[in-house]
Amino acid sequence: MADFYEILGVGRNANEEEIKKAYRQLALKYHPDKNPGDKSAENKFKEAAEAYEVLRDPQKRAQYDRFGTVGVDGAPGAGGFEFDLSDALRTFMSGFGGFGGFDDIFGSSTRSRRRADKGTDLRVNIPLTYEEIGTGVDKTIRVKRFEICDTCGGSGAAKGGGQITCPHCSGTGEIRQVQRSILGQIVNVHECRNCSGTGKIVERPCRTCHGDGRTKVNREINIKVPAGVAAGNYMTLNDEGNRGRRGSRAGDLLVMFDEKEHPIFTRHGRDVLLAAYISFAEAALGTTIEVPTLEGTAKLKIPPGIQGGHILRMRGKGFPELHGHGRGDQLVRIQVVAPSKLDDDQKTFYKELQEIEPPIMAAERYGKFTG
Ligand SMILES: [Zn+2]
Ligand SMILES: [Zn+2]
Repeated sequence: MADFYEILGVGRNANEEEIKKAYRQLALKYHPDKNPGDKSAENKFKEAAEAYEVLRDPQKRAQYDRFGTVGVDGAPGAGGFEFDLSDALRTFMSGFGGFGGFDDIFGSSTRSRRRADKGTDLRVNIPLTYEEIGTGVDKTIRVKRFEICDTCGGSGAAKGGGQITCPHCSGTGEIRQVQRSILGQIVNVHECRNCSGTGKIVERPCRTCHGDGRTKVNREINIKVPAGVAAGNYMTLNDEGNRGRRGSRAGDLLVMFDEKEHPIFTRHGRDVLLAAYISFAEAALGTTIEVPTLEGTAKLKIPPGIQGGHILRMRGKGFPELHGHGRGDQLVRIQVVAPSKLDDDQKTFYKELQEIEPPIMAAERYGKFTG
């Protein structure tokens, strides 16, 4: 295992602030959202979170400095213990609440103490249109995951064959190594590889799963996506990840939400931004237009004499609040379109218009440049 200080790129005397800063930089760089599908980035993200979890805590850090190893739960020498993606995301959240908008929308469930042989977590992305986010939507996702082997019921043993004590570790599931150093005796405890820490191996392995106790299957899972989610929100479906070896617990399924680019809408928090183009005549005389919204179209009254750049607010036409009641607004920026091609009739008309139009006074022609 790489050194936690090296992972974060800080010195052994680094203070809390330096550690936090180093972690934050790495976490943002390797965040799964910025590196979709990149396994090595995901591993770096997990590593950084694990290192940060230990070094941020003075007690765990002291243990780590002395023994060179520490479980994230604080027990020295809890080897073979996997810090998985959901842990890493939780670390990211607790370290920088709200930063980057990363949020488990159903609140992270406190989990029972994990075991080294627990199955791994799975992660899926669901891209959503703004319209789907506006109303909430049911989605069916396909995952390929390990589930309990039907043939052996998860035991990994063939019919009639039982389990025997692992000869490598004599059934303890651990291999202990004692090292002498100038600091005294150091005991390293590793998970036994022969039995994956279970202390037992199967006498005659099941032919379907070759003793693993699980097989890969394609599964469809229905997800109820609540209205108002945002890119970066995620849901944790407990125990819906990969089943562990020989009937041990399943990991979690992390469902991450993403927003698809919309052809005309822009999201700004709970509000929807949109530009509407109107003609000179419409701007001068006023009109009513049909404006597309997240849910169908809605009428918008444009008062006579409106100026280009003016923003009209359509109340309650934005995104609903996640788990809340209110809704955002739709903001419509009015753009007045000058005709770029005039036929002879129009040319005559505009010339006449120019003659009867009150001229813009010199004092009113210029003003401050505003965005
Ligand atoms: Zn089997
Ligand atoms: Zn063993």
